Amino acid sequence: VTRDIACVNCGAPAAASHVCEACGSDPALANDRRDQVLRGRTAGSRDDVEELLASAAEDRALLVSISVVAVSMVVLSILTLGVFLLVILVSVIAVLLSRRAARASFLRVQPGRMSVLHQLSLTAAFRLRLKPVDVFVQQSPEFNAYTSGFGGRSWIVMDSGLVEAMTPMELLFVLGHEMGHVKLRHVFWKTVVGDGRHSFPLLSPILRLVFSGWSRACEYSADRAGLIATRTPGPCFTALGKLAAGPGTVRGMRPDEVTWAFAEEEDTLLHLAEMSSSHPFISRRVKAILDFWKIIQPRPIPAGNPVSHA
Ligand SMILES: [Zn+2]
Ligand SMILES: [Zn+2]
Repeated sequence: VTRDIACVNCGAPAAASHVCEACGSDPALANDRRDQVLRGRTAGSRDDVEELLASAAEDRALLVSISVVAVSMVVLSILTLGVFLLVILVSVIAVLLSRRAARASFLRVQPGRMSVLHQLSLTAAFRLRLKPVDVFVQQSPEFNAYTSGFGGRSWIVMDSGLVEAMTPMELLFVLGHEMGHVKLRHVFWKTVVGDGRHSFPLLSPILRLVFSGWSRACEYSADRAGLIATRTPGPCFTALGKLAAGPGTVRGMRPDEVTWAFAEEEDTLLHLAEMSSSHPFISRRVKAILDFWKIIQPRPIPAGNPVSHA
């Protein structure tokens, strides 16, 4: 990485199109100006970033999953004289409440407290044309990040283990990925389906299976958002490498070495194996990120500036 400019926010040497590793901000954009744009943002209409991220496969898969769930619910409700419907309602509320309760014990990322991470989250939101998203860190040696939502608000939770092991650019990929879920309105259904930590005994495993096709499509879309945030594929690969194999294995590896390490041979068995999983395999995510990079690379990547933002 060539550090061609001095960061306009802190003066440290930085690569113009990346983020400043010293302060986490966009080194070519004054924070005041960025925050002014972020304050003026309203939630809502489809913009050019969403146009780039959206996938028809994802919409189709969601429609199929919702239809399967709706038909099953009607049939089971009739068979059980409405008791099933009540069970569903109670479990969805339980999942939502447990996620909301968990948030109370997380550390909120804010100015003066993990300020590099805070600046990175504002940079990611800016580049994805989003309003700022609350970010929380929970003490955990695990290596995970997820997005949750309740009553129209979304927030991102990151394990402290992940925050400590990743470089600023890799964290920007993770934040961009999670904000992609917010941008593309995945959060409601992701919350209902539940993840490993906040899920309802009987219901969640079935929902996860029904929604697995949609869930995988969402991961590809969110990875594309991560690439829009980083504006370069290298940190996406090393971040995925660290998620898959642990930080020690990947530290010091070049992005192309990571790409090669996960380039699994495509065959029918791999496709079948993936069908039963809620996340795509790393090798396929790496390939999809490269494909998307080839599409967006020749064009200027949306910079999030208000001039082209109606
Ligand atoms: Zn800086
Ligand atoms: Zn995701």
